[in-house]
Amino acid sequence: MSLLLLVDLDGVLYRGADPVPGMAAVLASRAAGGDEVVYVTNNSMHYRADYVSRLAEMGAPVGADRIVSAPRATALYLREHEPEVRRVLAVGASGLDRELRDVGLEVVNAGFAAERMAREGIDGVAAAGAPDAVVAGVDPQLTYLRIAAAADCVRAGARFIATNRDPIYPTERWLRPGAGSIIAAIEVASGVTPLVIGKPQPLLMQEAAGAVGRPPTEAIVIGDGIGTDLAAANAVGARTVLMLTGVTNRAAADEIPPSQRPVAIAEDAKDLAQVLEGLAAG
Ligand SMILES: [Mg+2]
Repeated sequence: MSLLLLVDLDGVLYRGADPVPGMAAVLASRAAGGDEVVYVTNNSMHYRADYVSRLAEMGAPVGADRIVSAPRATALYLREHEPEVRRVLAVGASGLDRELRDVGLEVVNAGFAAERMAREGIDGVAAAGAPDAVVAGVDPQLTYLRIAAAADCVRAGARFIATNRDPIYPTERWLRPGAGSIIAAIEVASGVTPLVIGKPQPLLMQEAAGAVGRPPTEAIVIGDGIGTDLAAANAVGARTVLMLTGVTNRAAADEIPPSQRPVAIAEDAKDLAQVLEGLAAG
């Protein structure tokens, strides 16, 4: 039976700049045998093509249509489920803008709106051209006026959508505020709670399975996070292989309540290969 593998990136395929040994090869061999591999990440800053060369260099099976990041899932979700949304105020990095534009949305960046507010003395709604939705992720150039622009639009009735709500994310040297920190500011300022696309919510997994035309219940999520990957997989009825190559150790994995357990726990790539062989034999 051909498997649908939804594979998390950081902590599974690589850790920061370093590939996790053997993972790319295991996925390449599964793909060669007919399995479908789609990558799922909450990272809200990059355009999906940015991942292709990096993953290909590692030897992982990849194409741009197989990268469903939180921004890509957000764009797909809007196109499919909220067709009345045409103009979007984007609070985020350039990768978010590009993903939204790729599905035909008209995108006004919050930086542009904030400049107009300052220069012309107008509110965020006027500066952004009365957008139908505000989409927010990590914006490394966040300013007070960008928050104001987003909050003005949401308060005026624009749909409020978050790529994800990760409170922080790790870089090579530091922990940095994640999308959740930025979403919180807009949420408090507008009094509106957003729809969240990324893990642990179900929509990212739904869009990732949908990208290859399959229901998420058929998917096997391969991830290293209990509160993110496992939770999102459980929310859509997918199975999970929990990897101990990232943020979760054996002790934490052993404490998962029985009703939420992964189908398997894998220490490394070799373990994963065995688990997948077993699941494919079914
Ligand atoms: Mg991870």
